[in-house]
Amino acid sequence: MTADVVFLLFYLLFAFCVIFPPTECISFGFTIPQLFSSILGSEHENFIEYHMKRTAFTLLIYSVLPLGFIFGTTFFGDENGIQKLWFVDDSIWISVLLSLAIILPILAFFEIVRYKLSWENHAIVKTLKKFTTGNRDWRMIAQNINFEFRSIDKLCVQTNAIIKIVATENWIIKVTPLSMCISHQSDSQLCVRQSDTHAFSHLSNDGTQFITIEVQSPRVPSYNIRLNTLDFRDLQDRLAGIVHIPENIKIFKSVIEKFVDAFRHAVEQNPKYKTSQDLDHCFGCNIVTSNVKLQKLCEDSGEEHCSNCNCRPIWCVDCLARWFAHQQDIEQTSQWLSGKCPCPMCKKRFCLLDVCMVEQIE
Ligand SMILES: [Zn+2]
Ligand SMILES: [Zn+2]
Ligand SMILES: [Zn+2]
Repeated sequence: MTADVVFLLFYLLFAFCVIFPPTECISFGFTIPQLFSSILGSEHENFIEYHMKRTAFTLLIYSVLPLGFIFGTTFFGDENGIQKLWFVDDSIWISVLLSLAIILPILAFFEIVRYKLSWENHAIVKTLKKFTTGNRDWRMIAQNINFEFRSIDKLCVQTNAIIKIVATENWIIKVTPLSMCISHQSDSQLCVRQSDTHAFSHLSNDGTQFITIEVQSPRVPSYNIRLNTLDFRDLQDRLAGIVHIPENIKIFKSVIEKFVDAFRHAVEQNPKYKTSQDLDHCFGCNIVTSNVKLQKLCEDSGEEHCSNCNCRPIWCVDCLARWFAHQQDIEQTSQWLSGKCPCPMCKKRFCLLDVCMVEQIE
């Protein structure tokens, strides 16, 4: 192999790691946001400003890559090979390539200087300005996003090495290397456009489904986000509105969701618990009225006996099913229904036969 080929392969690998950093680079801190972290500041504290700086630096680093290649070949390349192209060849293509390699970083540098003088020129600010109303200027919109990003209820999903989806109380944001797509939940419509299943994945043994969602908003151009089914469910929980799923697209149920259905079906066959007391919202989801009561009905004879729980009904059947599933051996899903579990409040042991649906009487 000539010195040119070795250097070309090395540089392609280097450029790939810069643009699409693999997990090894991320864990070694070799990514643009990690290398420039002292300049970028804290994403948690100042989300919008952090990403305005990060996209600007990313643009500068990308723009230097062609020039870096030309410089590199002058040190490590073959004297009679590629170096001749730069220094001897006077064809128009080489002149264009050399000019571009020099002009791109200069343009990117001037872009940063322009931002330094005023952030008003930044693409993210132009997007934020689409959400300004009356006396709320883009800085107030940015402050609102920063504030919501600091909240613990935000959802942050790294969908691949370079794309991150953020959902806060009111905003949906897609963070990419050079830009950010921002939309307000109140006027956005989310629609599943496509789903694809991958037989082998690091996420699950029985295949992972990926879903492409189109986010449409009257104020910004529509954009797509792609998530696996598990993250999709978290996103659905975080959104105020619903995600429209066309009938021809089937979203796979997770193991837990299949278990919740089976648990609910089994519990419905058990004797009912009749009560006239007023019931509060479920302690788990705070959405549904509590509808299950634990009382020892089974005749168990195993080592782990069930005991009678005196807690009042404070859970809904779905939340109790999820709690039950989380107490089981994750590998032995077929035995979950026959398992036992401590009451979430008093820790007394119960089995599926001891869960009764509540029937309210006058
Ligand atoms: Zn619940
Ligand atoms: Zn209890
Ligand atoms: Zn029992």
